[in-house]
Amino acid sequence: ATQPYDDQNVFAKILRREIPSTKLYEDEWAYAFPDINPQATLHVLVIPKGPYVSWDDFSAKASDQEIAGFIRAVGNVARMHDLVEPGYRLLANVGPHGGQEVPHLHVHLFGQQFLGPMIA
Ligand code: 5GP
Repeated sequence: ATQPYDDQNVFAKILRREIPSTKLYEDEWAYAFPDINPQATLHVLVIPKGPYVSWDDFSAKASDQEIAGFIRAVGNVARMHDLVEPGYRLLANVGPHGGQEVPHLHVHLFGQQFLGPMIA
C-alpha cells in the first residue's frame, strides 16, 4: 500500500516556491528543474503538479488527462534541450527499496553525455 501524500516533502515545497529551484519548464501538468546533485552533464527532474507519491500512485490514481499531460511534458523537456538526436535516459525510482528518497513522483532525465548501457 502506498503511503499517504506528505505535503511537506521537498518537491511539494519546490512546487509552492517555498524552496527555490531553477525553472527549466512549466505547464499546467508539470514542473522541471535541475537536480541539486547531478549524476550526468544534464540531470533534470520532472514532476507532476498533482499530489502523487510515486509512479505507482500516479499511474493508479491520476486522471487520463494528468497522465497524458505529464508524459507529454517530459517529452517537451527533452525536445527543449535538443536531446532527441543524441538520445537521453529517463528513470523513476519507486519506493524506498527502489531508491526513491523524495515522496513526490519525479522522473529523472539524463543527457548531454554518452550514457552507455544501464548497469542497475
Ligand atoms: P530519488 O532518489 O528520490 O529518485 O531522487 C531524488 C533526487 O532529488 C536526488 O537526485 C536529489 O539530488 C534531488 N534533490 C533532493 N532534494 C533536492 C532539492 O532540494 N532541490 C533539488 N533541485 N533537487 C533535490
